[in-house]
Amino acid sequence: MRITIFGTGYVGLVTGACLSDVGHNVLCMDVDEAKVARLLDGDMPIFEPGLEHLVKRNVANGRLRFTTDTASAVAFGTLQFIAVGTPPDEDGSADLQYVLAVARAIGEHMNDYKVIVDKSTVPVGTANNVHETIRQVLAKRGCDLDFNVCSNPEFLKEGAAIEDFTYGARIIVGTESERAKELMRECYAPYNRHHEKLMFMDVRSAELTKYAANAMLATKISFMNEIANLAERLGADIEAVRHGIGSDPRIGYHFIYPGCGYGGSCFPKDVQALTRTAQQVGYEAELLASVEAVNQRQKGTLFNKLAQALNRDLTGKTIALWGLSFKPNTDDMRDAPSRDLMESLWTAGAKVRAYDPEAMNECRRIYGDRDDLILVKSREDAVRGADALVICTEWKVFRSVDFYWLKQQLAIPVVVDGRNLYEPYDVKQAGLLYFAVGRADSL
Ligand code: NAD
Repeated sequence: MRITIFGTGYVGLVTGACLSDVGHNVLCMDVDEAKVARLLDGDMPIFEPGLEHLVKRNVANGRLRFTTDTASAVAFGTLQFIAVGTPPDEDGSADLQYVLAVARAIGEHMNDYKVIVDKSTVPVGTANNVHETIRQVLAKRGCDLDFNVCSNPEFLKEGAAIEDFTYGARIIVGTESERAKELMRECYAPYNRHHEKLMFMDVRSAELTKYAANAMLATKISFMNEIANLAERLGADIEAVRHGIGSDPRIGYHFIYPGCGYGGSCFPKDVQALTRTAQQVGYEAELLASVEAVNQRQKGTLFNKLAQALNRDLTGKTIALWGLSFKPNTDDMRDAPSRDLMESLWTAGAKVRAYDPEAMNECRRIYGDRDDLILVKSREDAVRGADALVICTEWKVFRSVDFYWLKQQLAIPVVVDGRNLYEPYDVKQAGLLYFAVGRADSL
């Protein structure tokens, strides 16, 4: 099949690479000329395990191409995937300007039947909005072309995006059109051989499914963080509680890790956008508002624990940070807890010495050169001569540490662990003061 993808970010590029790998002909279009230039040079604009290899293989066999040219992109695919960003607007609702810009571009350039596939996470009603936008542009051109708009939300996780795209539990397609349904079935047939993964439903339900999934996952995290905060105050150990409840199959072990709050490009903005959608239809989504509030508070716990451990005396201190990305195996720092921490540290007059296996360039891009941010090349460099250590991301490289060695590196023997990586007893044996999440034993 000939497929066009608008947007070469985490979702668009992974979708393009995966669909070309199963034999489709894919043209990826992005308005970011620098990004497309890098891709044309074989240079990946993002870090995602396995992506570079997949992109290079399919560029080499001619099935994956990149362009900044809208007209040829629209002319190319029968399927036109929209995978552009939907960042939060000022009031928390999803900003649809990029999605609608693509819709207008499709309307301006299309000359035959197209299925427009909304892969971006968009509020209920957006497919309708996209349909209307295209119809109006076509009407201005005096064209009466047939097209369908369907919703095909994406459930991949950064860090395991290719695996998720390829082996995901389900492929949701919202459409009322038989013609679009058949084309979507053809597009995803290579992923649908083992068992039936395609779930067809009405467009609005498909759009809501994506928000419901992210809101449910965010709820699990905030719930665990709430219980962790309680455990800390009640003299209990959240890790024991986690094992205790996870063993109940109705609850399960997935997504019940306490920590320093969820971040990334999806959960924060999607929970907010769903809350806003609810308000727009006159419904106060109290649970969602609490999920968001608990998360905001949790993001402050790293700083609060550190400030308390250092008797609120942070001025002139150098704090080592292990991990900057919002989770391991990605360079994405959007809404990462590390950012809240760094910004609070700078306000308090402290310096940051940070190491992350993949997010250093992203950190430099966001914050630029500043005296109070030192980016170093290893976890060892980060702690050498620092006053205290904070762990923000559970990268594998931070999991095993010689605590006696660590004690010698830090001027003040304080470790704040936002990911509960260690056994409190082991850390304390080495003479370190250990502050984890929800572990009374670590206080
Ligand atoms: P991203 O910011 O990484 O990439 C978006 C890309 O779209 C950018 O490269 C940008 O230049 C490009 N773009 C903007 N306007 C364009 C236009 N008019 N034409 C062509 N390209 C244009 O975003 P992302 O993380 O890939 O997310 C894309 C969508 O997928 C969002 O709605 C997001 O919520 C959703 N989503 C993201 C993830 C994830 O883990 N990142 C997972 C599931 C769903």
